[in-house]
Amino acid sequence: MSSCTFCDFVSGEWKQHKNKFKFQILHETKRTMSFLSIDFPKPAKEHVLVIPKKHYTNLEDCPKTTLHELVDHVALISKAIRTEHEGCNILLNDGRSAEQTVMHAHFHVVPRDKGDEIEIELWERTNITAKTYKKLNANLKKLIKKASKT
Ligand SMILES: [Zn+2]
Repeated sequence: MSSCTFCDFVSGEWKQHKNKFKFQILHETKRTMSFLSIDFPKPAKEHVLVIPKKHYTNLEDCPKTTLHELVDHVALISKAIRTEHEGCNILLNDGRSAEQTVMHAHFHVVPRDKGDEIEIELWERTNITAKTYKKLNANLKKLIKKASKT
């Protein structure tokens, strides 16, 4: 057994979730896999996780072929869910400070319907000045330029 729950799901080492529910694969491709999370939002709805089969901690660690398969897979899950729901939240918590609890990169897909009272966007909104807006844009452009070279 490895130290990563998701790797153990991929290898078939773990056949059940922590709460003893039987682990089931929803869909898989060569490099990706999706399954139902046991962390259900209230009101109870599906919460699907889409993961790379190989262990990568953060999204940028995934090779491009895996990234493409992941995004295609997420789009498929979203399309399927939206045949029964109005929309979806698609999230990826990248890093511990962003609430990533399993250190194996994973997308969350959560169905949404008008008035469902699921609170995903919990941050308090703030107003910024045009100067700050300009500064944030300049800094991000600089960071993106630097990141695209490594
Ligand atoms: Zn893993």
